[in-house]
Amino acid sequence: MSRNKAVYPGSFDPLTNGHMDIIRRAAKLYEEVTVAVLVNTTKSGLFTFEERVELIENEIKDLPNVKVDSFVGLLVDYCKNNDIDVIIRGLRAISDYEYEMQIAQMNRTLNPEVETVFMMTNTKYSFLSSSIVKEVARFGGNIKEIVPALVQEKLKSKYRG
Ligand code: ADP
Repeated sequence: MSRNKAVYPGSFDPLTNGHMDIIRRAAKLYEEVTVAVLVNTTKSGLFTFEERVELIENEIKDLPNVKVDSFVGLLVDYCKNNDIDVIIRGLRAISDYEYEMQIAQMNRTLNPEVETVFMMTNTKYSFLSSSIVKEVARFGGNIKEIVPALVQEKLKSKYRG
């Protein structure tokens, strides 16, 4: 089976340069990459799902084989419905490993046809997470180097309000 369509799922609350690095690299490996924002009905984040999608849309304009979508429910169902056979996840530190392994194994149990592929973080972004970005932005710290310009702007206005 050829593996041409991949999904990169996550919360993306908000998108960081670490996410963008994975997206750009994945776009070179697969014919089509869908960045899929998980709509979590029990946990609300800082940005609405629509806002997260919009921020991603703005950054993938120059990547013709990348698109953005959102999904509710099981990722393996989303894959099945969209003919996707690869899930991409990023790995930063050892601390990501246990959690990621659990999800990957559960997803394989649910649907053995879907393969999870891990991409190592760019060392430049190995300590970067959406939560850290929010912490720094909340207290007015400089996040210019770690998030796209529009994300920086939106974070500023969120915390100003
Ligand atoms: P989730 O809630 O699903 O972990 P995130 O938006 O936090 O959603 O992350 C989505 C994916 O991107 C995860 O696989 C995460 O490990 C990866 N990721 C996040 N930040 C980075 C980074 N700086 N470098 C590499 N991968 C990252």
